[in-house]
Amino acid sequence: MCMGIFKSRGKQKLIDHHLHHNMASSIPALPQSYSPRTDSVFSDLSGFFSMDSNVPGLSKMILNKLNMKDYSEYRAAVEGKSRGLAFRNYKEMFQKMEDTFKFCTGCSKLPEHLGEGESLRRCVKCLNVYYCTKDCQRKDWPQHKKVCKTLRLVAIDRLVEWLMFTGDLPFATEKWTRSAAEVRSWDDWVPMQGDLTPRLDAILSGPSSTALWRNVSRPRPDAADLRRSLWRVQSEFLSRVLTVGTAVQHFGLDPRAKPLTIHVAGASHSETMGARASDYDELNRMFPGHEGVEVVMVGPEVVDGPVMRPPLRALGPRQRVYISAHKALYHQFWEDVVEKEEAARPDLVVGFHPGFHANQGLLQGWLPTLLLLRDYNIPSFFTMYSEQELKRSLQILQELEMRVRDSGSNPFASQKPEQVQSCPNKPPVYCNSHYVCFQGLLPREDFEEPDVDN
Ligand SMILES: [Zn+2]
Ligand SMILES: [Zn+2]
Repeated sequence: MCMGIFKSRGKQKLIDHHLHHNMASSIPALPQSYSPRTDSVFSDLSGFFSMDSNVPGLSKMILNKLNMKDYSEYRAAVEGKSRGLAFRNYKEMFQKMEDTFKFCTGCSKLPEHLGEGESLRRCVKCLNVYYCTKDCQRKDWPQHKKVCKTLRLVAIDRLVEWLMFTGDLPFATEKWTRSAAEVRSWDDWVPMQGDLTPRLDAILSGPSSTALWRNVSRPRPDAADLRRSLWRVQSEFLSRVLTVGTAVQHFGLDPRAKPLTIHVAGASHSETMGARASDYDELNRMFPGHEGVEVVMVGPEVVDGPVMRPPLRALGPRQRVYISAHKALYHQFWEDVVEKEEAARPDLVVGFHPGFHANQGLLQGWLPTLLLLRDYNIPSFFTMYSEQELKRSLQILQELEMRVRDSGSNPFASQKPEQVQSCPNKPPVYCNSHYVCFQGLLPREDFEEPDVDN
């Protein structure tokens, strides 16, 4: 990419400072086995590392634990087509998933570090966290009691989530009876669906759900609990498409007036593992009669699957959403594909949890992309897991002299709580819970001139 497009305005020093000092101080202690790699800023280790900084990446973690590199391997595994995988059946698969949560919440002991006669026992209330001894549990209770109730839901959801991969979820949604402008939050969206109970009960009585609860190491929760869990898992899926729709409206774009190209920068495992060509179809219901919407998911962690196909060069079909995916860093995609006019320029770029606030490696990976978005004046809409993450991201965007239009809590945040896996006592976070909306460079008068260099 031509670096000449990036206007330097004397703030590089500040960014360097941020990279080398501020960020370092907020980085938690590294796991023993961690040795930083220089070859890839998006390495698995970096992903794991980010989780300690409040960036969960559960499905990635599970994939790593199961030694599965991509969705096709996962698919082959659930369909029982063995390809030398790490497990033989559902029971073993769920067991391995559960193993990733097995460490003492009190003292962080792993199963391999337990002494003679010690074993990890689950908290009986949430069935989510483990303790090596009664003593560890007693000492941890004052902290754990604040999150135990929510972690009970987390433990159910992370099993129910499997129904996303079996195809039982997402369930079909209804036509919108109100305009996109009138549907401002879940409270407006949910009533348009009518009674969800029959749709949810059909899933609960299906073969996948039955197989699930027969093979996991806990009793099946009651129907009401499970219905709520199905909804939370589905809300996480819908949160992405409704957030894109919200971003479209934020920037005053109208897909009924002209076709739109939307890039999802930094698309990860969570969005692309098991992605289907229909994943953004809720946009059809949100903007009925639109002129065509193209969604291109771009990221180094994009998982191979049915949406892995070239982006459109010309306009797509009207009233349809066309999804494609490209495995690369976004700025690389821009250079290799967009600049060569093999893909349309975006009307909007969305990023789900870019996590560039979390560590230096991720920020360095994102920096060329952030500068590109700024200097090409592209409407951009990024989401975060928490208010704290939003604040730290805003700080970085300010240092890059981005013109931030708006930020706050997202009315279409996922309703599914997610545990900060390595720190179960931290308050659970929610996908897309916050957002920041930015475009272009700050006007000159809005920022301080750097000191004159003598
Ligand atoms: Zn312990
Ligand atoms: Zn508990």
